[in-house]
Amino acid sequence: MIGRFRYDNEVFQGVIRGDRIIVERGLYCDTFVLSELEMLAPTNPSKIICVGLNYVDHARELDMMIPKKPLIFLKPPSAVIGHLGKIVYPDTVERIDYEAELAVVIGKRCKKVPCENVSSVIMGYACFNDVTARDLQKEDVQWTRSKSFDTFAPVGPFITEPGLDISDLSIKTRVNGKLRQDSRTSNFIFGLPELIEFISDIMTLEAGDIIATGTPPGVGELSVGDEVEIEIEDIGVLKNSVVRS
Ligand code: MG
Repeated sequence: MIGRFRYDNEVFQGVIRGDRIIVERGLYCDTFVLSELEMLAPTNPSKIICVGLNYVDHARELDMMIPKKPLIFLKPPSAVIGHLGKIVYPDTVERIDYEAELAVVIGKRCKKVPCENVSSVIMGYACFNDVTARDLQKEDVQWTRSKSFDTFAPVGPFITEPGLDISDLSIKTRVNGKLRQDSRTSNFIFGLPELIEFISDIMTLEAGDIIATGTPPGVGELSVGDEVEIEIEDIGVLKNSVVRS
């Protein structure tokens, strides 16, 4: 697992070994104890590419046709927060929702990556919450406003190894401990190779960029004071609370 941390105004990524963080410094390594570091979001992306409808069970729930091509949209990097960061409820919004998603973190700059080569551009995986101002999403044609508020892109806690088999992982949301979403990544409409080929045909992907792969059924509302957890098997638990702006 890889995390991103701050210590003495220096920001760096490090490898997590138990409660120790190993930071490579060229020829030598520094070791820190997790508790002495400030934990940040594990990546600092140049962009976040989100996939709209990508779970067959969610399409069924919404009574929507299975899309023929991925529907994608962007979230800005200014929306990113890490594990235990606060989701700020904007005072101009009437309803915000959680959306549990598997995040793929890109490992190197790439363009036009064919399906069979996607494993060479993946740094690893993390949990993601595509927080959405649902009332604004319904009001607007474009989703930029509803998806882009600061703190609307929690990601973490860490980035897994790239070799993790993500073809059939359990993905869950709990709000204040109550189960709200419960599905498996085997319900993806578009698999990762197809998604990365499709997106990298359009835009250059940079190291650290996030692809959020869509949410399963059971999306619902968050209130001020709620604690929301996104849990993905073999990846971790991303926990955030909701505060008033
Ligand atoms: Mg989403």
